[in-house]
Order: sequence, then C-alpha cells, then structure tokens
Amino acid sequence: MRNTVAENAEWIASIIHRYLDDPKKHAIAPSLSEPAFGEPLIGFGNGKDPVFRQLKKLIGPFYWTPEEIFRLTFPGDKHPADPLSVISWILPQTEATKKDSRRCKKYPSRRWTFVRLHGENVNARLRKHLTDTLRRKGFPAVAPMLSPLWQREHSHAFGLASSWSERHTAYACGLGTFGLSDGLITPKGKAVRIGSVVARIELSPSPRPYRDHNAYCLYHARGKCGKCVKRCPAGAISLNGHDKEKCKRYIRAVTAPYARARQTGVKVNSCGLCQTGVPCESAIPVK
Ligand code: SF4
Ligand code: SF4
Repeated sequence: MRNTVAENAEWIASIIHRYLDDPKKHAIAPSLSEPAFGEPLIGFGNGKDPVFRQLKKLIGPFYWTPEEIFRLTFPGDKHPADPLSVISWILPQTEATKKDSRRCKKYPSRRWTFVRLHGENVNARLRKHLTDTLRRKGFPAVAPMLSPLWQREHSHAFGLASSWSERHTAYACGLGTFGLSDGLITPKGKAVRIGSVVARIELSPSPRPYRDHNAYCLYHARGKCGKCVKRCPAGAISLNGHDKEKCKRYIRAVTAPYARARQTGVKVNSCGLCQTGVPCESAIPVK
C-alpha cells in the first residue's frame, strides 16, 4: 500500500528523531554521554523547484541540482526522477556548547571542537542511516555530501565552493536565510550544523517564509547590528560580508593547530566564534 505524502513526512521525521534519541549514536564524543545537538528542525523541498537551478546559476556550473546528483548516483535507473524530494535538517548546538563558545575570543572551546569533529560524524552517519533506510523501503536516495563525486570547487561569484552546499539546500527547504557572516540563520539560530538527502519519494515542500535570502539578518533587514564583525578574531567579516579566504587562513594557521595540540590530538577546522554571542545565535532576530 502506498503511503500518503503526510505519512512519508512523518516517517522521515521519525527516522531522524529516533536516530538522534539514541545516546550511543548521538554523543558529543565517543567516550561521553552528552548529546552533540539539540532538537532538530526538518524541511522538505521539491527536487524540481526552480530555486535549485537558480542556485546552480549563481554558484557555478559544477554545482549539482537534486536531479543531477540523483542521476549521477543511479545512472542505470531508467525511471523518471519523479517525484523527487530534498530532505534537509538543522542540528542546533546545545546550550552548553553555545555557553562555552560565547566566552571564547580567539580559539574555539573544547566542546565546540568536539561537535565540529564528532558531532559532524554523527551528522554524516545520520545522512547514511536515512539514505539506507529509504533505499531498503524502495526509495532510491543519496546524501550528496557523502557522494564520492562531491568535491571542492571554485565559484567565480563566491570563491570557495563545492558540488553541494548544505546551507543553500536548507535555504531552499524553507529552513533559514543567510547572515552577513554567510551562516544560515534558522528558527534555532545560526549556531547549527546541517545535513540533507535527495530521494525519489513524494513529500510536500516546506514553505519559504522569507522574502529574500538575507531576510533574517539584522544588518541586511535594518542596516544595524554587525555583531558578527566584532566576534571574528580574523577580521574575516566586514559590512561587505564574509571573506572566506581570510577565514580559511585563520583556521588553518591558528585554530586548527590549537585544536590539534590542546583539544583533540587531530586536525579539526574548528572556529565558529561568529556563530555565538550574536543576536542571531539561537533564534531569528528579525521576525
Ligand atoms: S550578528 Fe547581526 S549582522 Fe551578523 S549575521 Fe547575525 S544578525 Fe546579521
Ligand atoms: S569561522 Fe572564525 S575566522 Fe571564520 S568568520 Fe567565523 S569567527 Fe571568523
């Protein structure tokens, strides 16, 4: 028997929630029982929504639409990629992680680095778990970030880029808009990690309750704030936006070596100071 669209949405939400409800799968570090994230947000998109083609046009020809990564993953599949849906989720940092990070001025806190390392592994395993579960039930699915074809790219318009962006996907799925610092401001704020899966399954797209891609940022909406500019120890954020090269250089030269030497023993590209201690940290500052 075919499920209704509402039942599909409920089923997918329950897979994500059940996964994160398991403390063994959702720990901030392998040896700790503390969860890596708070309650997730979930949004859906129609894989054929023109917004995905617009994003490709903006970012560059290398950027995948949902249909392109679906076709690349299932080249022998002769059925139409229809209905094609995008499932996107937001994993908010916990209060404990945000509290630690707010106090930091130059280096990331230990908790933040653990989330960047182990929390992102939780997110990667969630992508895989959802993909596997969908496939087992007869819905071909792919997590673009886990595709062996995913790679870093250079965008003429935006500099550092890649084949798929979780932030842009979440924007398309109604989960938030971009701030001055490039982070996605969601109903749970900007201190988040993000995941997504593309699947041939029918889902009702979530509305995008914003008028433009910067609507939730105080600076873009009202011309004031700029708190993230002051929070960045690298001078990588200005009222003109986020300098990705400066940000990358600071992380490579300062925070990643610090994380390795003092926090984890391995290289972790941890920083995110611009995501905490700002008005958009935990909520949408503009309603
Ligand atoms: S701190 Fe202020 S200016 Fe920066 S992204 Fe958030 S709302 Fe926008
Ligand atoms: S991640 Fe760190 S270096 Fe990069 S913009 Fe944010 S605060 Fe600045």
